[in-house]
Amino acid sequence: DENGTASALWSEYQTGWVEQQQDQLYLVVELTQAIRHRRFEFVVQPKVDLSSMAIHSGEVLLRWHHPEKGSIGPDVFIPLAERVGLIFKLTQVVLNLTFEWVALHRAALKSCSLAINISARDLLQPAFAQDTLALCQKYQLEPARFILEITETTALSDKAMAIENADLLRAAGFSLSIDDFGAGYSSMQNIHRLAPQEIKIDRQFVRELTINSTHETLCRSLITLSQDLHTCATAEGIETAEQLALLKQWGCHSGQGYYLYRPLAPDDFLTLLRTQQNGH
Ligand code: C2E
Ligand code: MG
Ligand code: MG
Ligand code: MG
Repeated sequence: DENGTASALWSEYQTGWVEQQQDQLYLVVELTQAIRHRRFEFVVQPKVDLSSMAIHSGEVLLRWHHPEKGSIGPDVFIPLAERVGLIFKLTQVVLNLTFEWVALHRAALKSCSLAINISARDLLQPAFAQDTLALCQKYQLEPARFILEITETTALSDKAMAIENADLLRAAGFSLSIDDFGAGYSSMQNIHRLAPQEIKIDRQFVRELTINSTHETLCRSLITLSQDLHTCATAEGIETAEQLALLKQWGCHSGQGYYLYRPLAPDDFLTLLRTQQNGH
């Protein structure tokens, strides 16, 4: 009967919900352990100057090597880490891994900046700028080598604190970038408040560049906007020759995407840079 079906569905739903919650909880425990033991690796995706097609930067993208589940992508664990407050520790892991690697290969990476993803929530930690600068000094690296790509997944609660950290980081020589611009919670106000050196045009606008005229207009406007503000526009998620040609035509400074380069193992990234420097 109908009631029986409904209650069966309801109990199935509840069981599903409980299982899901248990899975999430288990993942949080494993993530905590992974952070403690630094069980993370990273890949590096080249960022290309669209007028010369030379690699000017590399973006560090985190990978979690789970003992049973294999490689888990950041789209799964970063939002989780943000929800449960593990993001601060995770950012420290990324900063340490990156600085350590750059320090080891400082000569090879001399003419290439490294972009590191941070969460806007990191900027709410009072000592974030000071700690990041101190860590940079510990490895004897100049902050000017680094771009901090900031993603806002929720609206910032303490704007004054975020701005204070951003100002300190910029004054120390770090470049700031607004990631996924136009998606989620990134706003025009942030361009004013964070005074970024780079704006990254969200992948979704680039994806439909050639089939969606609104997205075409949005892309062109964001490029013009960044030109007027003397910041660099980077288009992410370039997957076709057609998208690349249009972005170049519109004067987009910089680009990233599978059509140009896939994210690479750190050693492969170094090899690629070496090839480029030798003029091949
Ligand atoms: P994001 O910073 O916008 O990074 C770009 C993402 O798009 C990367 O996915 C990259 O592999 C992917 N991608 C690059 N080119 C293409 C393309 O042509 N087509 C498509 N479909 N995708 C492309 P990934 O590595 O899975 O990272 C996802 C997001 O996770 C990042 O988005 C970033 O917000 C976050 N993330 C990654 N590493 C870190 C980290 O170390 N710390 C923090 N806080 N967030 C991170
Ligand atoms: Mg990024
Ligand atoms: Mg992005
Ligand atoms: Mg993203």
